[in-house]
Parts: sequence; structure tokens; C-alpha cells
Amino acid sequence: MAIREIQVKSILQRSGIPGADYVINPYTGCVHGCVYCYARFMRRFTGHADAWGSFLDVKSNAPELLERQLSRRKTPLDGSVFLSSVTDPYLPAERKFQLTRRVLEVLLKHQASISILTKSDLVTRDIDLLREFRNCSVGLSMMTVDDAAAQQFEQYAALPSRRIQALQTLKANNIRTYAFISPYLPAISDFDALFERLSGAVDEIGIEALNTRGGGMGGVIDALNAYAPHLTKQCFQLVRDDQYWDALEVHARQCAAQANIAFMGVFRHGR
Ligand code: SF4
Repeated sequence: MAIREIQVKSILQRSGIPGADYVINPYTGCVHGCVYCYARFMRRFTGHADAWGSFLDVKSNAPELLERQLSRRKTPLDGSVFLSSVTDPYLPAERKFQLTRRVLEVLLKHQASISILTKSDLVTRDIDLLREFRNCSVGLSMMTVDDAAAQQFEQYAALPSRRIQALQTLKANNIRTYAFISPYLPAISDFDALFERLSGAVDEIGIEALNTRGGGMGGVIDALNAYAPHLTKQCFQLVRDDQYWDALEVHARQCAAQANIAFMGVFRHGR
């Protein structure tokens, strides 16, 4: 793993992501090893010849740069800040560099609204800060509750059981939580099993369908063939079945309503 510290010229960027006005990526690269990674396209902007997942750029000046950017403003930020869109803000390197934590300190000082999405229970390290925000929600993304399945698809990320535990801990500390079921793989992800484990741990839940136009389909097929070869064909048939997604959305909405959990919807991708 090649880890290098770099200096960047901008850190707070406008975002086109639904529900997020700004985005901060404290790192470039990601080492969680998700076979479906939607962010691997970033490699061509980094100057790295190495494969996605084998390098990490640490944006060392991110906190100071953010402080300068926010101090220049005459009014508070007009929207919420999302961490992160093309990396995970709680990679293992965050234990050493504490970059996300220092970015959060700056955002807190400037009373920003934030939303965090991660696959790591390291986020619980920052509960002391997260509790201080007026508007803060923390999401853990997962595609399954099955630890064995997750190890096939997300080799170096925290196991789902640890992510669910993190959600429970965050919620117990009065932090707004959400689960983002992403990517949802028909025949593998099992909404009911996920929902049962997540009930009581989240305020919101959303689902994102597998994006078959993303760059990692070869890896998804390999992982499916290794984990449950008898389900590979069914999974890809259902991914393309609009009625399947319609039914899942109706069912998920009903479950969420009954449990008094806000439902963010099913995010689908074109084919
Ligand atoms: S956590 Fe996100 S950015 Fe990192 S490898 Fe997985 S999908 Fe890609």
C-alpha cells in the first residue's frame, strides 16, 4: 500500500449528490476493497499508475485549507456538507492521520450541517464531536448483514456486524443515524434480514440498486461466483427487472412506516 501525504488547493466542493450541498473527501483513494467500487474512476485524476485500492493520498492540509475557506465567508454555509463521496472518511489510515476528525473540528467551529457515510465503525471514535453538531447524521452503508458474504464483496471493510454495532452506539448517543443499503444485490442482500437487524439502530433507511454500468461488474461477477454461483444468473436477471425494484420499494416503505423509520427510497440506475 502506497500512502503519501499531499497538499491540495481546494477541499470544500459543491456537490450534485441528492441531499448534499457540499462534499469533502479528506483522502484520495480507498482501501476497503469493495469489488463494486463506484469511485474507481477517480484513479485517472490522481496520476497514480497503481490499481485503485493500492494507493492512498492523504490531503494533509485539508483542515487548515477548510478553515481558510470557511473564515472567508461572511455567512455560515448555506447547506449541508457530505463526507465523503469518492473515499471513505474513516479508512484505517484515519487512526494515524486524524484528518477527518480535524476536518470535523473545523466544521463544528463554523456550525456546519453535516452528513457522514462510511463503512467503518471507526466513526464512533468521534462521537464526542458529532454530538456537538446542531445538524448531523451518520450513515453506515452495507449490502448485507451476512459477514461471510461481505468478506467476498468488501474484503477490507469492517464486517456488517461491526457496522450495525456502530449504528447502535451512535443512536444511543443521540446522533441521528441512517443505513444505506448499497449496493443492493437481488438474491443476496435480503432486505428483511437487514431490516430486522437495523430496526432500533437507525432513524432513516435508503436503498441503492447495483449500478451495472459502474466499473466493477467483473469483480461483482467473480465475487458472486465465489460466494453463491447458483445465484449469479438470478441476481443479474432481477437487477434488470423493474417490477422487482417496484415491489422492493413498496415493501421497504411499508416496513419503514411500521417501524417509524424514515424511508429515503430506492435509488435506481439506468441500464
Ligand atoms: S468504501 Fe466506497 S470508495 Fe471505498 S472501496 Fe468501497 S465503494 Fe469504493
